[in-house]
Amino acid sequence: MRRVKERMTTHLQETDIDSVQELKALKAAIDEHSIVAITDPQGRITYVNDKFCSISKYPREELLGQNHRIINSGCHPKEFFKDMWATISKGQIWRNEIKNKAKDGSFYWVHTTIVPFKNSQGEIYQYVSIRTDITERKKAEEDLAEKNKELETIVYVASHDLRSPLVNIQGFSNELVQSCKELRLKLGGDDFQSLSPEIRTLLNQDIPEAIKFILSGVSKIDTLLSGLLRFSRLGRAALRSEKLNMNEMLDTIVKSTEFQIKQNGVTVKVDNLPPCLGDNVQINQVFSNLLSNALKYLHPNRKGNITVLGQVVENRSVYEVIDNGIGVSPAHQAKIFEIFHRLNPAQTEGEGLGLTIAQRVLERQNGKIWIESIPGEGSRFFVCLPHIS
Ligand code: ADP
Repeated sequence: MRRVKERMTTHLQETDIDSVQELKALKAAIDEHSIVAITDPQGRITYVNDKFCSISKYPREELLGQNHRIINSGCHPKEFFKDMWATISKGQIWRNEIKNKAKDGSFYWVHTTIVPFKNSQGEIYQYVSIRTDITERKKAEEDLAEKNKELETIVYVASHDLRSPLVNIQGFSNELVQSCKELRLKLGGDDFQSLSPEIRTLLNQDIPEAIKFILSGVSKIDTLLSGLLRFSRLGRAALRSEKLNMNEMLDTIVKSTEFQIKQNGVTVKVDNLPPCLGDNVQINQVFSNLLSNALKYLHPNRKGNITVLGQVVENRSVYEVIDNGIGVSPAHQAKIFEIFHRLNPAQTEGEGLGLTIAQRVLERQNGKIWIESIPGEGSRFFVCLPHIS
C-alpha cells in the first residue's frame, strides 16, 4: 500500500497525503463524483465504477476485459487518439473532451483525464481515467452553433432585402410629415380656428404622433439590420492570424475606456498576460466588448472591480475577464451568446450582439468563450486561444 501511495503522491504532484485513510477517502470521493475506469497498458478495461456503467449503459461484466475502444464514437479523427497515446505512453497526463458511444448507440460527452501509473521499474502498469459528464454543456454548444449557422445564412439576404422597404417607409413617412404641414398652411396656417376641434386634433396631434411612432420603429429596425449585417459580414471577413501581444492590446483598450472607468470609480487590474495566436482586429473587438460589458453591468451597490488574468494551459492561452457586477443566472448563461439576447433591455443600452460576435470570432480562430457567474456577485468570462510563445 505504501508503494501505491508513493506512486500516487508522485502523480498527484507531491500533495501531502500521509495516511492510508486519506488515500482511501480520496479514492472514495473520486469514485462517488466521477466516472472512473482503469485499463492495462494495452487499453483493456480492468476496472469500471458504477457511474461508468450507468453512462455507457453497459453492464460491468460486458466491459471488463474489453478494449477501451468499445465506447469510441467514431467522431474524432485518428490524430486525436494518436496524440492521446503519444502522451500517456510517455507517462504524461492527457486531458480532453471526448464524445463516446453508449451501448444503445446514443452519444455522450465526457471531459477525460487519463493518468498513467508506473511501477518501480518505471514501466506503465495501468491507466486511470477520470471523467465528468459534459453532455448537457456540449449539447447546448452544438445547438447554439447550429442555430448561429442557420441564422448567418438567412441574415445576410434578409438584412439586404429588408433595407429597401424600410427606406420606403422612412421616405413616405417624411413625406406625410411634409403633407401635414402643407395641409395646415392651406387651411389657414396656425390660425385654423374655423375648423372643427376633431380635425384640429387630427392635424396637430394624432397624425404627427403616429408618424413619430412609425419613424422611431423604423429607426429601431434600422439599428437591428445594421447589427445583423455586421454579424453576417464576420463570417466572410478575411482573417490574419499573428502573434498577439495581449499586454499591449489590453493596455490600449483600458486607456480607451479610461473616462468611463474614472467616472464610475472602478478599479481595473490587468495581470501579465501570455501571448496568443489570433486576428488583431477581431480579438481586440472581443476584449473591448468584454471590458465594456464588465463596466456596463456593474453592481449598483458596490465599487466596481475588474481584473484581467491570463495563463497558459495545455498549449492554450486562457484569459479571464472578472467583474464583481450583477452576474448572470445559470439559466441565462448560454442565452447571452445568442444574437440580440439581452437580459434587462430597459436598464442599459446595447444591441445584444457583442457576445454573439465574440463567440463567432473565436470559433473561427480555434478559440472559445464561456462564462462562469454567480448572480449578484459577479461574472468571469473566459477566452481561450491557441498559445504561441
Ligand atoms: P449588450 O451588452 O449589447 O446587451 P452582449 O452580447 O455584449 O450585448 O451581452 C448580452 C447580455 O449578456 C447583456 O445584455 C447582459 O444582460 C449580459 N451580460 C454581458 N456581460 C455581462 C457582465 N459582465 N455581467 C452581467 N451581465 C452581462
